[in-house]
Amino acid sequence: MKKERDAQTTAWRKRISNTGLNAKALALALENAGAAGVVICNWSSGFGVNKIFGANTTKIPTIDVALEDYGMLYRLTESGVKPVISVRADSKELGKVPTFNTLAEIKGTEKPNEYVMLSAHFDSWDGGTGATDNATGTIVMMEAMRILRKIYPNPKRTILVGHWGSEEQGLNGSRAFVEDHAEIVDNLQALFNQDNGTGRVANISGQGFLHAYSYIGRWLSKVPQEIRGEIETSFPGSPSGGGSDYASFVAVGAPAFSLSSKSWSYGNYTWHTNRDTYDKIVFDDVRNNAILTAILVYMACEDPEKTSREKAVLPINSRSGKQAEWPAQRKANRTGN
Ligand SMILES: [Zn+2]
Repeated sequence: MKKERDAQTTAWRKRISNTGLNAKALALALENAGAAGVVICNWSSGFGVNKIFGANTTKIPTIDVALEDYGMLYRLTESGVKPVISVRADSKELGKVPTFNTLAEIKGTEKPNEYVMLSAHFDSWDGGTGATDNATGTIVMMEAMRILRKIYPNPKRTILVGHWGSEEQGLNGSRAFVEDHAEIVDNLQALFNQDNGTGRVANISGQGFLHAYSYIGRWLSKVPQEIRGEIETSFPGSPSGGGSDYASFVAVGAPAFSLSSKSWSYGNYTWHTNRDTYDKIVFDDVRNNAILTAILVYMACEDPEKTSREKAVLPINSRSGKQAEWPAQRKANRTGN
């Protein structure tokens, strides 16, 4: 079955490449040729699941059709039936609209000018409702904040939560925050971001910070075994150049970490798909992650030591023979497109 599927996928790609155009250029060519709209089906390698990304057309609508329906349209067309479809599309292009970050704070008492941050993004793609990308991250951080505010109302360091806007267009909310708030970023004790699905946190990387093993190890040691037991750590790890908002902080050398989840087939089933909906949320996992986050934030706030930002010597890339470089800071897009 897998062989057949791979062969069909290859044949489909070949069909597109026979036009001499890639998917993006093909959409524009159809638009320029007077098409009323473009119907696509971008299969996500999961049963009945399509990826939903931006349209490649500029004026005419691009419509996602579910795999089963697309397959039928394809077969009807191939056998010369010339199917006609009727489309009702209520979406409107609104031009440039403002985006925003949502922040909340619990002021520190002993070191109010040092910060521990919780982080997730508030925007999502419109194929589903963004349940696992990144509502689960957002509710983990909201719930951790609720716990902290209740049982730890007077933290040593200031606790901040950032729910970022425009992450999906290039980490714009968090990059803008990093540009605008050097006084916070320079005094960041640690940041914890969660943004890869509903699963229990299973991996934490030191992001290339040489001494991360020491402080993260210290903080994790206070997390109950039933939560910590499944977490694999990698130190010093390598710094992420993108992927989610923690990378905006890592780029300027601030200790920011990804609380990385078990996948639950995130890549195939919910990430940027028409199936990223509420019913996919595993609330037991989300609860687990909220507890973990609250404990890590508490430990980072209480730690008598300020975290080290010393960077590890990055490895030599075996293919290029060059030493890896720390990712560069990239500017937020503040104007839209
Ligand atoms: Zn995301």
